[in-house]
This record gives sequence, structure tokens and C-alpha cells, in this order.
Amino acid sequence: MYFLRALLAALPLFAQFDLVIANGRVIDPESNLDAPRHIGIRAGKIAAISPRPLKGAKTIDAKGLVVAPGFIDLHSHGINNASNEYQAHDGVTTALELELGVSDVKRYIKERTGKAMLNFGTTASHPASRMMGLKELSAETAKWAASDDLQRGVKEQGRELQLKDEEEYSKMTFLLEQGLKEGALGLGVMPAYTPGSTRSEIYRVYQMAARWRVPIFTHVRGWTEEGIQEAVANAAGTGASVHIVHLNSSTRGTIPSMLEMIAAARKRGIDITTEAYPYTAGSTFIESALFDDDWQTTLGITYNDLQWQATGERLTKQTFEKYRKQGGVVILHLMKPEWIKMAMSSPFVIVASDTMPYAPGAHPRGGGTYSKVLGEYVRELKAATLIEAIRRMSLLPAQRLESIAPAMKNKGRIKVGADADLAIFDAATVRDTGTYQTGPQFAQGIPHVIVNGVAVVENGKTVPGVFPGTAITGNYGTR
Ligand SMILES: [Zn+2]
Repeated sequence: MYFLRALLAALPLFAQFDLVIANGRVIDPESNLDAPRHIGIRAGKIAAISPRPLKGAKTIDAKGLVVAPGFIDLHSHGINNASNEYQAHDGVTTALELELGVSDVKRYIKERTGKAMLNFGTTASHPASRMMGLKELSAETAKWAASDDLQRGVKEQGRELQLKDEEEYSKMTFLLEQGLKEGALGLGVMPAYTPGSTRSEIYRVYQMAARWRVPIFTHVRGWTEEGIQEAVANAAGTGASVHIVHLNSSTRGTIPSMLEMIAAARKRGIDITTEAYPYTAGSTFIESALFDDDWQTTLGITYNDLQWQATGERLTKQTFEKYRKQGGVVILHLMKPEWIKMAMSSPFVIVASDTMPYAPGAHPRGGGTYSKVLGEYVRELKAATLIEAIRRMSLLPAQRLESIAPAMKNKGRIKVGADADLAIFDAATVRDTGTYQTGPQFAQGIPHVIVNGVAVVENGKTVPGVFPGTAITGNYGTR
């Protein structure tokens, strides 16, 4: 009998689990578990969490490593596998485009399904919808929408135009609601890029979000308090839920008072969340509205603080003007380390990357956001404890989405029944490696990353040809 049992146990065929993560230090931010455990995974879900060894068809030994819920990035513009690969090595298992969103939600979900390394999802795009609603741009937008260039187009044309009449409003509203019916996770609203959007227009968008009971993800107007206050006021006035993206670059020197205001608004019951990335430089399109006004005075920086992605060169007045006509991505050195440390120390600030589409020389945050927080801000600067940082990388972003995407209740946690999305890292060595010169690089010290029970990174290497990512969709269309 003993012999038979030993024989059966030795055969993978009779293994109880598809995959076992053995001997790891399991940290779960929901239950506050922080202890050695073995995790058994079956059919893409966590099926057992045990102090005793488990038998799997395959086993990954996590001795000496932390096993955390996979990181959930609410803010990634890198919505393809080339970008996903860098994020995967950074511990990300879900990468969502919620700030800008996409213009055609149905097409986006269809195109990525079965082909994505990481879980994916999007908002319905306010900039794209208003652009398609503007009558005088209809011919242009039709062309862009057909050629997939709409995301770029919204940054270039029509941004200064105001919606003129109810017909344009209703076209925009129709398109936003269509995106929600197709599975969008809320509305992506970025008045910083559409200065033609009046305060009234943005207020009406918040009213819609409140009526539809969907969250807004917003890059607020301007560079300081005015935009944050507009978002807080709109949320208070309408009852809409709002998530303010990259608080660090949207507030800069005013971050202490803005953090205080957001904390106070939360205490008063306003559903407002925010996020930051752990870098002192931002990145965007040089042709965008962010450079329309006197950005040098507003930001207290000059041409030399701008870095051209394609070559890494710092700009001059001449090259700035040349590249602005040409269009392309620029890195902006505009923040101070103490502002970032403050954001990274705040208990409610979610970590999100604002990953730019992968390109050599792109902002390194696309491959280093999470490893940088764990290595620099947790281990070296002690701005947050390990479990607090994990909470702000996994549980808090999952909770932000639960009202519109109940499936998120099974992410951001390590519990029986949760999706087997895991980031497995060495707390003593994890660190980012990309710089503003090299662009995104694979992080160090994150040897294994599991998405829906499938390893996408194993022993520090990308596992080729696996696409376990699934669509995270909103429930608006099925309520
Ligand atoms: Zn932004």
C-alpha cells in the first residue's frame, strides 16, 4: 500500500495540482498573511494554500522568495506584447489602459483575446469620443478610426475645439456608452490634452459617469492644483467615482497639500483614488497640448530638461520646434525626488506605471516601476513596508475596479479561489535596471511571474509562445 501510494505520487499524472509554488514567503495584503506556504494551482486558480508540501504536475521552488499577488497596473499605454514583456519582468500580471482608453472597445478586446501575455482591459475614451462627435472633424476622425491612429489623432487635432450643440454632445455620449456596453472599465478623461473641453463639458461627463455608475480615470487639467480641485469638485458635485492618474506629475510641488485634500475628500465619503509612478521624469508626445502654453514658466524647466526619446538628446529651442512639428515622444525631467518619496509613502497612493508603448529609449518606467518601488522605495529608502507596497500594487488597484468589474474580487489577493496571478521576487535583490539612457530593461530579482496559472516569466526568462492573459471587462452592458 505504501509502495503504491509512493508510486502514484511520483507520477505527474496523479498530481493534485497543475502547478505548485513551493516554499515561498507568501504575502497576501487582504488577510495580512506573511508566512511560508505552498500554493497549489489548478485550472488557472489558486486551489490550496498550505503549510505542508503539495504535489503538482510541475513545481516552482520559491525558497527565499516572496510570493505576492501579481501587480495590477491601472495605467499602461503599452497595450501590445512587446510592451507587456517588459512589464511581465517587472511583476505585472494585469496591464490596463484606463487613462486614454481606446476608441473601439469591441475591436480592441477581440484583437487581444487569446493573444495577450498579460490580462488587459480599457476605458471608453472621452478624447476619442468627443473628437468623433465634433462635426467639423468627422471626415478626419473617420479616417483615423479606420486606420487605428485615433489615439494619436486626439493628441493632434481638434483639441482646442469646443462642443457646440446638443447634437455633438449626444454623439459623444452615445459613443462613450457604446464603449461601456462593449466592456469598457469606465471613462478615460484627460482635459489636459483636450483644452477645448470646457469645465461644463467635463462636469457633464462626470454626471454621465455618476448616472451610469462607472468610474472616471483622469489626467486632470493643467499641472497643479486647479485640475485636482476640478476633479474633486466634480466628484463631490455629481457623486461620480474618480481616479486621478499620476498624481506626482499632475501636482509636482503642490503634492503635500493635494495629498491632504484627497485624503480629506476620501474621509468625507467621496470615492476618489489616485496613483503615482516612482520616477522624477514624465513622458508624453511633444506635439500634445501640454506644450501649447508657456510650459517653461509653468513647470519651471527649460528645453534642456526635455529628452528626445528617439536619440536620447536633450533639446534646444531649435530642436524643440523642429520635433514639435514632426511629432514624437519626449521625456520630461520635471520632478523632485522628495515629491516622489512623499507619494510612495502615502498609504492610499496606488502604484501605476504610465508605461509608454515600448521603443528603444522610451521612459524606463515601462519595465521598472514595480521593481523600483520594491528595491529603492521599500528596501533602501524605507518609504513603505513591503506588505504596504504590495497592497498598493495589487489589492488597491483591484478594489478600485470591483464595482464595475466584479471579477477583480479574484485578483490582487492570494486566497483559495483567486486567479493564479503571482509575482515571485527576491526582496533582498529586486531592482529596476533601465535608465533614461537605456530605456526599459528587464528588472532583476523577479524570477517568476504567473498569469492565470501559466508562467510568463520563469527563472528570469520570458516563456515564449504563451498568451494566458484574459480580458478584464466592465459589467455595464450586463447589469
Ligand atoms: Zn497622463
